[in-house]
Amino acid sequence: LHLYVAGKSIIDEIKIEVARMDASIYVVPGLAVIFFFFNVRLAGLAVILVGDREDSASYVRNKKNACESVGIKSVDVCLPEDSSEEEVLKYVLSFNNDPSIYGILVQLPLPSKDVDGFHPFKMGLLAKRGCEPDFVPCTPKGCIEKRAVVIGRSNIVGMPVSLLLQNEDATVTTIHSKTKNPEEITREADILIAAAGRPNMVRGSWIKPGAVVIDVGINHVQDPNGSRLVGDVCHEEACKVASAITPVPGGVGPMTIAMLLSNTLTSAKRIQEFQ
Ligand code: NAD
Repeated sequence: LHLYVAGKSIIDEIKIEVARMDASIYVVPGLAVIFFFFNVRLAGLAVILVGDREDSASYVRNKKNACESVGIKSVDVCLPEDSSEEEVLKYVLSFNNDPSIYGILVQLPLPSKDVDGFHPFKMGLLAKRGCEPDFVPCTPKGCIEKRAVVIGRSNIVGMPVSLLLQNEDATVTTIHSKTKNPEEITREADILIAAAGRPNMVRGSWIKPGAVVIDVGINHVQDPNGSRLVGDVCHEEACKVASAITPVPGGVGPMTIAMLLSNTLTSAKRIQEFQ
């Protein structure tokens, strides 16, 4: 709840800045999103998404709606699952050459090879101490805090979260799939960030009383009432122990989108040299 409110105020601020930029220099920041249809089936004229990648389409929808809510122009391209790397690059290049586009996002996961994704150069800037990171990946940027144990070490979330925390002089412990007895480590954490992609993995007994818990996980689970989203943290148990916890859905997700809009605005300001 706390994070959601923070995300909303960031979005309000971005909206004001986008309007100021438009009024002053007649520039509306644009964001291009490239994504893929997985397991597409055609039924008459309707396109139906099946399989476990429905989440990609809903993430794109959420991003488009968020852009619209702050006045950022968004365009998207949906490519078939079997697109070649050349075809994807063609779109990336054309968006790159389009002066109205200030940010390009390729929605992961990719069906084939990652064309660019998390560019090693930008990762390097984040990792090298003393270097100013360029654009920080949107999810970790949304959950930085002073002290933490991070569950997960992926390029998208776990690793950049740990680096961001270290850059803030935090003492960071990383837990990953090969870590033995993770609960002994998590119990020491004042701030616990869970990004393992394992539904309800973190139980109430894993959490230090009063800790702040940031649940990055987004997991689709089936129960008798149908499909629903849960985090990596058992929310019901964690609520009784933690001093603050982010919900799933509605926690880190909206914050990630707020950071995407913020990065797009920063890019537009930088290119236009707009203060
Ligand atoms: P990933 O599969 O690339 O990485 C998972 C990481 O967790 C790995 O480093 C792995 O070692 C670790 N891990 C896996 N099982 C573990 C276990 N049992 N114990 C300890 N560590 C374990 O996933 P990802 O892309 O980093 O995403 C993680 C989660 O965050 C997913 O649920 C994903 O949907 C979610 N996510 C949310 C947002 C958002 O905006 N809220 C954005 C990106 C990812």
